[in-house]
Amino acid sequence: MALTLYNTLGRTLQVFEPIKSGEVGFYGCGPTVYNYAHIGNLRAYITHDTLVRTLRERGYTVTHVMNITDVGHLSGDNDDGDDKMVKSAEERGKSVLEIADFYTKAFFNDTERLNILRPTVVCKATEHVGEMIALIKRIEANGFTYQSGGNLYFDITKLRAYGELALLNLDERKVARTDMDANKRNPYDFVLWFTKSKFENQALVWDSPWGRGYPGWHIECSAMSIKYLGEQFDIHAGGIDHITIHHTNEIAQSEAATGKHPWVKYWVHNEFLIQDKGKMSKSAGGFLTLQTLLDAGYDALDYRYFLLGAHYRSQVQFSYEALDGARNARKSLGDRIRVLAEKAGGLPESGAEIGGNAAAYLEAFHKALDEDLNTPRALAELWGLLRDQTVDGAEALAAAFAMDRILGLNIAAGARQEAEKGNPEEIAEIEALLAERAKAKKAKDFAAADSIRNTLKERGILLEDGPTGVTWRRI
Ligand code: AMP
Ligand code: ZN
Repeated sequence: MALTLYNTLGRTLQVFEPIKSGEVGFYGCGPTVYNYAHIGNLRAYITHDTLVRTLRERGYTVTHVMNITDVGHLSGDNDDGDDKMVKSAEERGKSVLEIADFYTKAFFNDTERLNILRPTVVCKATEHVGEMIALIKRIEANGFTYQSGGNLYFDITKLRAYGELALLNLDERKVARTDMDANKRNPYDFVLWFTKSKFENQALVWDSPWGRGYPGWHIECSAMSIKYLGEQFDIHAGGIDHITIHHTNEIAQSEAATGKHPWVKYWVHNEFLIQDKGKMSKSAGGFLTLQTLLDAGYDALDYRYFLLGAHYRSQVQFSYEALDGARNARKSLGDRIRVLAEKAGGLPESGAEIGGNAAAYLEAFHKALDEDLNTPRALAELWGLLRDQTVDGAEALAAAFAMDRILGLNIAAGARQEAEKGNPEEIAEIEALLAERAKAKKAKDFAAADSIRNTLKERGILLEDGPTGVTWRRI
């Protein structure tokens, strides 16, 4: 069975065939690090992670590249509004680089908690301005640019296929837009390099053939993806908001520079996560972060489970009721795994043989993912497997662990941790001591709290105070 993906370029389901046999070049637009990622943004990265894991499970060697936007992203994707990084730095009384560094760390902290695999290459825009300038020079040499009002613009009328991804009707938009940057010849034209913009105190500027200034937002993704994945590559992903401007312009720049078409073979776009108020947006403020969910007592993987319950191309409405459902389901999953482990007399080795009807469930699971990453159906196959009394316990566990290599719910790790913790009476006793210690700490009786810690240490049990509470492990 082949993997099929819905390709925004052409708006059809297509069988995935990599450009180079056995290898996949994958680029997913990364965060603009002027604030925390909201849980809507994190949906995009869970989608990328599911796709990358699915491809790897199929045996492909995937090079996953993610950019970090730390310069040039204006609040309007169409070259208008404030510079997001500069505004955030000013508001917080920090330098742009300090802001970028802080929110980049926060971002990877979130993705780690969500069990999102680290991309193969993480590249910062500010460290690739040389590559951007080199690419813009190629675009200019090929006759696709003009200078106006000090900035360098991309002239979209020079590119035959402009707007193919977004199915743009160029004439319609021309009539609709009246608030156009006066330097532009056409409303769709966009900035490749800013020198004279409204931001006189732009914090980060570089010398370039067009004057001292800074790059437009779109060029970073073209320059960095080409650097790490070559002039043509397999898959590019992002949220649906990027189809009409950002990705359309990335294609225009890349194809104008290289003359190769199509630049990217498959375009994968995730739908939005919405709140009752509508679209969740970083710039609008008042959004939910992963930390908000953790503070409310949820586990990051409850949120991962919640998202996997919907297809990535369906809009999802966030609610705490729905998140409760995901939390309960994940808990039942853990309970079911424990029952099976007891039945099987332990946990299977990783890579254990999977035969009989467990193999049939695993096959159905992969088939669901092969059909444009149908994660709700894949989850249903996992549940079918765990509930089916006719499946051998050890084989069911081995198949569930194999499924989790794509789902990323940490089922195996969770079960192993439990199994290594010991017998239920001993665990209950330790948990009771932990509760006593928490009470002592709350009453500021630190001597009592320390004494419990030491008693447990003598028994070979180490306590660790983490962001989500106290955990313990054997030493
Ligand atoms: P940004 O950090 O704003 O550049 O966005 C990071 C990623 O999140 C992009 O792929 C966006 O398309 C995506 N995105 C933004 N808002 C949402 C949302 N509410 N739901 C799903 N994805 C989103
Ligand atoms: Zn991008």
